[in-house]
Amino acid sequence: MSLPSFEAGTSPLEVIAWALETHPDLVMPSAFNLNGVVLIDLAARVGFRGEVLFVDTGYHFPETLATRDRLAERYASLDFVTLSADLPDDRLFLTDVDGCCAARKVAPLQAYLAEKRPSALLNARSREQTTDRAEIPFVEEGARRKINPLAHMTRTTLEQYARHHDLPVNPLYWDGFLSVGCAPCTRAVRPGEDARAGRWAGQGKTECGLWVGEQAL
Ligand code: SF4
Repeated sequence: MSLPSFEAGTSPLEVIAWALETHPDLVMPSAFNLNGVVLIDLAARVGFRGEVLFVDTGYHFPETLATRDRLAERYASLDFVTLSADLPDDRLFLTDVDGCCAARKVAPLQAYLAEKRPSALLNARSREQTTDRAEIPFVEEGARRKINPLAHMTRTTLEQYARHHDLPVNPLYWDGFLSVGCAPCTRAVRPGEDARAGRWAGQGKTECGLWVGEQAL
């Protein structure tokens, strides 16, 4: 099926509406960061009633788990699903962050996708988050489509939207954790850094492997 001619100014709502019509089995992986919370709200407004997938690595901040619970309560029409590798506390992140992410983040989602086989994923990434994401389009082709309705939204616009609609943003965000991952691998962002600079800082790693690299979904 040919893609619609989305332009930079296309509304995220229009992209989501197209995604729902084209991929009724759409699912939404989410870490419940600012982008993810905005996307959940927008998708719910357009009529998304599918699964929101959260991978619990066992190392999340309590604030993140509480954010998930607040979202599940607010958006009761969506189906919040928590996936987990169910691994013991092996502290692998101390010696092998790639191996730890592969086992705790990527593997549970891969197992889910292998079983359920959704044709597309609704994704909350945006271009402004980091230089690695500076070119992402609204729709990425691959083994399964990734649809990025927020691709062209700026952090300022996302924050305005969240405040205007009183969204339950992870409170760590307002303390400078512009991208919140696992507690051992996340610090607050410093002035002038991009939004994901606090993830695996100083470890030469910028993505968990869900969206780029050999294991990308
Ligand atoms: S972010 Fe850190 S703790 Fe979380 S899965 Fe990756 S390496 Fe492990």
